[in-house]
Amino acid sequence: MNRERFDVWLRNIYDTQDVEISCTECFDLVSHFVELEVSGENAAAKLPQLKQHLDQCLACRDEYEMLFALARFENEGGLPSLEELRGSIR
Ligand SMILES: [Zn+2]
Repeated sequence: MNRERFDVWLRNIYDTQDVEISCTECFDLVSHFVELEVSGENAAAKLPQLKQHLDQCLACRDEYEMLFALARFENEGGLPSLEELRGSIR
């Protein structure tokens, strides 16, 4: 492998690691993401990798939507009924 090819190869690996996170990392971060959103912060700008993962991964997106619904109801005071919860998840 010549030097130039090696650089490209290396960059590909690091670029990929830079933009993609795993479901485990996503799971660790998603509650923080929701906290930011509920408090009116631009969560997608602060955690772009997480946002990207949520856009691509259905399982994590479900998790996020559930947490978001719960956090919003909590913010407004009181736990939601099951019907309210269902209605808030698209
Ligand atoms: Zn995931």
